[in-house]
Amino acid sequence: MSAYDADVIIVGGGPSGVAAALELKKRGVAQVMLLDREDTLGGATRHCSHSPFGMREFGRVYFGAAYGRRLQREALAAGVDIRPQHSVVSLGEDAGITVTSPRGVGVLKAKRVMLATGAREMPRSARLVSGDRPATGIVTTGALQSYVAFHHLMPFRRPLIVGSELVSFSAVLTCLTHGARPVTMIEPEGRVLARGPFTLFPALFGIPFHVGAEIVDIRGAGRVEAATVRLADGSTRSFSCDGVLFTGRFTPEAALLMQSTFGVAPGSSGPTIDQTGRMANPLYFAGGNVLRAVETGGWAFREGQAVGAAVAADLARDPAVAEPVPVTFDAPVKLVVPNLLRRGENAPAFRDFQLRFLRPANGRLSLELDGRPVWSRTGEWLPERRILVPVPSVAAEAGHVHFGFREQG
Ligand SMILES: Cc1cc2nc3c(=O)[nH]c(=O)nc-3n(C[C@H](O)[C@H](O)[C@H](O)COP(=O)(O)OP(=O)(O)OC[C@H]3O[C@@H](n4cnc5c(N)ncnc54)[C@H](O)[C@@H]3O)c2cc1C
Repeated sequence: MSAYDADVIIVGGGPSGVAAALELKKRGVAQVMLLDREDTLGGATRHCSHSPFGMREFGRVYFGAAYGRRLQREALAAGVDIRPQHSVVSLGEDAGITVTSPRGVGVLKAKRVMLATGAREMPRSARLVSGDRPATGIVTTGALQSYVAFHHLMPFRRPLIVGSELVSFSAVLTCLTHGARPVTMIEPEGRVLARGPFTLFPALFGIPFHVGAEIVDIRGAGRVEAATVRLADGSTRSFSCDGVLFTGRFTPEAALLMQSTFGVAPGSSGPTIDQTGRMANPLYFAGGNVLRAVETGGWAFREGQAVGAAVAADLARDPAVAEPVPVTFDAPVKLVVPNLLRRGENAPAFRDFQLRFLRPANGRLSLELDGRPVWSRTGEWLPERRILVPVPSVAAEAGHVHFGFREQG
């Protein structure tokens, strides 16, 4: 009898986990087990009642829920061992993971484990908004869309929406298509964070929009009755509303890492990974939004595919790998992924470093290998914008890899 329950166990059945599973099967890996705590695969896409999903990977545009079903069908057809209602509760150093399921609690062991647990929006508690604690009406977009998609429940009719990321406009759409009319939208930053045609929704539908505005208080007992907002000019205004919808400000779903010996990376709050997606513990890999919040479904799918390919290649060799070199960075760079590099990894899953900034900044961003700049660019850098810097082939040989930043004017 094998000492392993599978060759590879993937935790999380969203786009990245499913894509990794499909890639592993395509490359001939026999036993690929996919665990998800939910009843079906699809991850965050399952409750998105809007498009666009799937164009690059399946050649057609899907609504989120239909895309989730397509992922499920693809995994079934490929012979992936799908285990719904399986929650992973801890990660062992030896790739033995503790799982709770309707069958009880047990440990599953694989030659390699991949984390694809996604990201989640920041709820009210983490945003430190004071005031009453009404029984209903304060939700995130993901929670709202789950209520609507799975329970046909709309928790409010006149919500105030906090945020202006892409997901915030997805929230507006969900409200408008399900009988709710937002009373206003607010964004604490001095500008709208998202780009593209979606950002025209509020103006098109006559929803007032305030930038530089922060929610400071919520009132109501059984349900929300009002929210107080500090506006850009310093004045405060009370908005009568029956709900508050907190959108965006995603963070990686990294509870498993924090409850184990692995910890999280400074900046991204996700796992530390090298250019193949391998974590500091060489038996573990990670891909998708758990790496860094937050990207699109298509991006998560492609990342999962690339990490799946790296895991398949890795199974064929000795797991002994070089000690990783951390990738460091100056503020106001917020995060860099991959955040480790290892020598001798010739088939990288990540050909670019992905960077984000903490705040708007003007200046020169440079990549330095052992103190020598090998890449630089000067410009205006905005938060929540993806920045890609090619990983030079010689970078893995360096003893010190650093992103420097020199502010200008
Ligand atoms: C409201 C909203 C609207 C969006 N709209 C769009 C859009 O229009 N177009 C687009 O391209 N993208 C959109 N996205 C983004 C897209 O959904 C994500 O990029 C994509 O789902 C990320 O894939 P993932 O596999 O990394 O993670 P996820 O899809 O988040 O999947 C993670 C999976 O891991 C599981 N999991 C987590 N922890 C555990 C555990 N301990 N044990 C077992 N299972 C676990 C979860 O149940 C989940 O199924 C939207 C996201 C949201 C929230």
